[in-house]
Amino acid sequence: MGLGHLLMVTLTLLCTGLQTSEASDWGYWGKNGPENWPGICTTGKKQSPIDIVTDDAIRIDLGALKTYRYDFAFPSTLINTGHSVQIQLHSSVPIHLSGRVLSSVYILEQMHFHWGAEHTVDGLRDPLELHLVHYDKKYANFSVAAQHEGGVAVVGVLFELSLDDNPDLAPIVEATRLVSHWVGHSMARIRTKLIPLLFLPKDHTTYYHYEGSLTTPECQESVLWFVMTEKLKVSEAQMNVFRHVESSNGTLKFNYRPVQNLGNRKVYHRLEGYNSASSRIPRNMVYIVLSNLLARLLHKNF
Ligand SMILES: [Zn+2]
Repeated sequence: MGLGHLLMVTLTLLCTGLQTSEASDWGYWGKNGPENWPGICTTGKKQSPIDIVTDDAIRIDLGALKTYRYDFAFPSTLINTGHSVQIQLHSSVPIHLSGRVLSSVYILEQMHFHWGAEHTVDGLRDPLELHLVHYDKKYANFSVAAQHEGGVAVVGVLFELSLDDNPDLAPIVEATRLVSHWVGHSMARIRTKLIPLLFLPKDHTTYYHYEGSLTTPECQESVLWFVMTEKLKVSEAQMNVFRHVESSNGTLKFNYRPVQNLGNRKVYHRLEGYNSASSRIPRNMVYIVLSNLLARLLHKNF
């Protein structure tokens, strides 16, 4: 990377040096891997991510997700947390998520990536998943909200491989390249303002929904999950930038948690205009059953 290129991107060094906290003791492989994550991560019954079995998902219209100020452009910074790259949108007014399926209004806290995707669909794993992390505005902040059931709402967006670069991802990929060696709390300012709506698929009203957890320690079971059914695109070249991010435990070649047991939870597939009653017993099925019954009765009597 040339000096000119470096100058084009303004770097903001907030803190220098490596700052390892207790939270950095966990990782994605070896003795600190997901099998040995502490507490509820291992003992919980509502953990995330999961494999979404599309045939088993209950089709129902839970209502669309409504976004507020997602279409505005925000100055943004990116940090290498050592577990992911995380984007902070800087806005004086909250960026919101709401909808019939949510009992409150949720504030966008941050966005970050997992490579490969954490949620699999019918056993298939995409290369990348974006998490847009929101918390219920009735709580003081994200940490407090994460202690309460339904306190957090995460929108998961899956990215599938394409031959061409995704131009909307380009400024994020560029900043990721810059912070890839900066494990800790150094931030890079993202060259262009980010429009959150560009990181949702065009159809952001069709989604899978279930109740689960944060996918990193402490794995709090406070998350309402919304995994978009439509996917965005990412190129192999862009994926390679994510796969070269450094952690305090070597190169972060991947940062997804294995899928967890669904247990007795239900996964819902929100489909526009889908009526839950008619989804379970299609009307023509009722007609067929009734006419069969009638035919048998008639057959018996005559
Ligand atoms: Zn995540």
